[in-house]
Parts: sequence; C-alpha cells; structure tokens
Amino acid sequence: MMSPGPINGEHPIPHHPIRSARIVGDDGEESVVATVYCPLKERSTTVPECESCHRFHALHFDAASRTTSVVCHSGPASRGEERADPLRGVGRPVNPEAPLADIMTRDVVCVRPEVTVDEITALLVRHGISGMPVVDAEGKPVGMVSRADVLRAAQERGDTEESERLTLRRDEVAPLDIEQGFHVYEPVETTARDIMTPVVLQMHESASIRQAASLMAYEGVHRLPVTSDDGKVVGILSALDVLRWFGRSCGYLIPPARKRA
Ligand code: SF4
Repeated sequence: MMSPGPINGEHPIPHHPIRSARIVGDDGEESVVATVYCPLKERSTTVPECESCHRFHALHFDAASRTTSVVCHSGPASRGEERADPLRGVGRPVNPEAPLADIMTRDVVCVRPEVTVDEITALLVRHGISGMPVVDAEGKPVGMVSRADVLRAAQERGDTEESERLTLRRDEVAPLDIEQGFHVYEPVETTARDIMTPVVLQMHESASIRQAASLMAYEGVHRLPVTSDDGKVVGILSALDVLRWFGRSCGYLIPPARKRA
C-alpha cells in the first residue's frame, strides 16, 4: 500500500521506524528480526502484527534516511515524526522522559557466543561499529564484545608482538619433550564467549533517556543493549546516541550516523 508523503514537510500521521536486529551465527549466516516500537502498547510489535491492527495505514520508505516505517493512527503526530526523521527533533525541548526507542540505533548487529574473534573483527570493520551484543539462541543478550575486548584477546595470544625465535646450541635440548617428526596442533579458536563481558546491563525500550544516561554514566559503559518485552535485543544505545539527541534538542543540525554502536 502506498503511504502519504510529507505535506509541507510534515507527515500527516505518525510513522514508526522498523528496527532490525541482525544475528550472526558461527556459520556466518545472518538472521534478521524486524520489529516496530508501538507507542500505544509501549512494547515491540512485528510488522505482520501491525498489518493486522485496525490502526495500520501503510508502510512508508523514506529515501533520505533510508528508513522504512509503519504508518498508523497510534499517537500524537509530533512523536511519530521525530521517529521517522531524526532531523525533526532539532530545536524540540529536551525531554529526558522520552523512550529509548526514539533515539537508539535501530539496526543492531549481534553475534552468537560461538562466533570467532576473527569474524567479530571483520564485523566491526564491515559495519564501522565499536561493539555489539552477544545473544543466545532466542536473541536475548548474554554479553557484550567491544573493540577493546578484541585487541586484548589479540595481545594475549601474542598477535601484536613478534614471536621470539628459539635458537638452540648443539649441546642444548629442546624445551619440549617430543618425538622426532611432524606434530600437528589444532589451533584453539577464541570465540565471543571467551572475550565478552558477560554481565549485561540492558534496558527496556520504553525506559527513559534519563534512566539510560544515568545508568551508563554510573556504570561507566559506552553502550547498552535495548530489549523488548520478551528480553530480545531490538536496538543498541551508545553514548554517542545520547549526545546526538542532546545536541539536536539544543537546536544543532546533527545528521543521523550511517553506522553506529
Ligand atoms: S499499527 Fe497498531 S500495533 Fe502497529 S504501531 Fe500502530 S497502533 Fe501499534
């Protein structure tokens, strides 16, 4: 169904962006869980659930922000407009009670605990992010991995130092008591489970920005997984997300980041 476009730059009815959690498994396969934050239910819904809702109007793709939204009669227009286009928040009064769903990063990359550090490194580079949630089979967070964790793991396995060459004099014996011949050792793969920070601080998507900012500052963390009613990851909130929201609320033009975490 076609959606009404903006009239004089204003959307006539609220738009609710579709968020996606990409979960990468140890086989490299990605599964995507798409959800929408329903302000009436104050929880996540799926797109099919919206499509069967009597308030549903249309799906709308905004080419400028590359965001697909559910358009429905679910609340005050100003709130929906903010979600459809983050630039619309410019100059609005700072509202620390606004839900995290309004400002979190909506496309979140997650990994399963069995994913190797090499694959995590590739994901961090490919998506231009600095950390990601580690999730169980149901998509619930069990830990966080960051660039710092990857670097620490590399340092611990000696990837950042040149290995010392072992030279033995003729009369010395090798330090390992092994038989002559070839010896094949399987390298032990380091995985997300080995390097993640297992204690997960997380917040529900309807929690306020005030609560999230306070928790992050108190705990000294840079990012929080944001979860739905069933405990699954639906987004991620970074310290930069909070700063962007604050700057925008103070009237500065701050475009949405292409890739964040
Ligand atoms: S269509 Fe219905 S379920 Fe979906 S966001 Fe709107 S009110 Fe909520």
